[in-house]
Amino acid sequence: MVKVNEDYLKLRGSYLFSTVGKKEREFLAAHPDRRVIKLSIGDVTQPLVPAIIEAMHKAVGEMADEKTFRGYAPDLGYEFLRNAVMENDYKARGCEIAADEIFISDGAKSDSGNIQEIFSKDCKVAVCDPVYPVYVDTNIMAGRTGVFDETTETWSNVIYMPCIAENNFAPMIPKETPDLIYLCFPNNPTGSTITKAQLQEWVDYANKVGAVIIYDAAYEAYISEEDVPHSIYECEGARTCAIELHSFSKNAGFTGVRLGYTVIPKDIKCGGVMLHSLWARRHGTKYNGAPYIIQRAGEAVYSLEGQAQLKKQVAYYMENAAYILNGLKDAGYSVSGGVNAPYIWLRTPNDMTSWQFFDYLLENANVVGTPGSGFGPSGEHYFRLTAFGNHENTLEAIRRIKEL
Ligand code: PLP
Repeated sequence: MVKVNEDYLKLRGSYLFSTVGKKEREFLAAHPDRRVIKLSIGDVTQPLVPAIIEAMHKAVGEMADEKTFRGYAPDLGYEFLRNAVMENDYKARGCEIAADEIFISDGAKSDSGNIQEIFSKDCKVAVCDPVYPVYVDTNIMAGRTGVFDETTETWSNVIYMPCIAENNFAPMIPKETPDLIYLCFPNNPTGSTITKAQLQEWVDYANKVGAVIIYDAAYEAYISEEDVPHSIYECEGARTCAIELHSFSKNAGFTGVRLGYTVIPKDIKCGGVMLHSLWARRHGTKYNGAPYIIQRAGEAVYSLEGQAQLKKQVAYYMENAAYILNGLKDAGYSVSGGVNAPYIWLRTPNDMTSWQFFDYLLENANVVGTPGSGFGPSGEHYFRLTAFGNHENTLEAIRRIKEL
């Protein structure tokens, strides 16, 4: 008889945002008269900017003509987009990345979940705690589990690196040596960042112990401070130990359009094998390329008009972030984030658990946020609010929270 993949049974109940959405729907069903404001899932609300819409229209037109119609895209991505990424995200920042080290995909969620496939099942994985849940869950699905600890509800092959107020929400090098290290800065959910000097320490450490860093730069566009790196390749030696993930979701509003990319320098080798070749093989076998129309939309992100329009869009969300941050501070909350990231991380009042505060806020302010404990054990007693709402809803949500 067919058997299921038992590693899937080792996952926690359901994906965090499914639980949040379910609770919200139940609340609305019980209270249809209430206007609930969602500051929970990190989904954007502002429309695609004109430069992107124009590029998409043009590409749709090309698809209507036999002479310019395109079928399957190259599975590693069209050259026009890989070149635009290379020029703007790397060369312009003094980072040495070639266009053929960039793999275009349908977003950073799939890449961050799939990248573990090219590593051995025996690898030990280190993650920031709290962090985007996909890294841990996909490694559990792949069987990187070990022994389960009932008290902390964690697996021994996953090393949690607490990012707490005492260390400014930045991870410390763990006692146990990991093989894979997931870093995400600006961080989801804490909104914290690390300096270039701090990131350099991670690169030096990875090179020393032979680990690979998977660096998720999904929120790079929100960096406002000088000393915060936009790419891990700003650090010396990163070409031999770091893979970088990017998304077009947060900088350009592509959450529904879907586009991202992963960089694997040809210099990273594990036991003499180039990771670049393995990922190219995996991509070529399991993926048939991001759609032409969407890749043209991605190219428009780097046009002069696109860049100017997107700068305004990022500023729009960051105005929300400042409003939430200051509003919560005024209301007496202990808060961080919101300066280099669209997330505000707050300590729950009166030592409430994250889920107790979720219920309290939903019930009394009709505002939905995300419980910090869903992002890892160190997220307990914390709560995340996003700045991706529109101004009107954000202002109203903060007014309600302040009134509590
Ligand atoms: N990486 C991080 C850290 C995220 O927070 C998210 C989405 O919230 C993603 C990746 C997913 O990005 P994409 O929409 O490109 O799949």
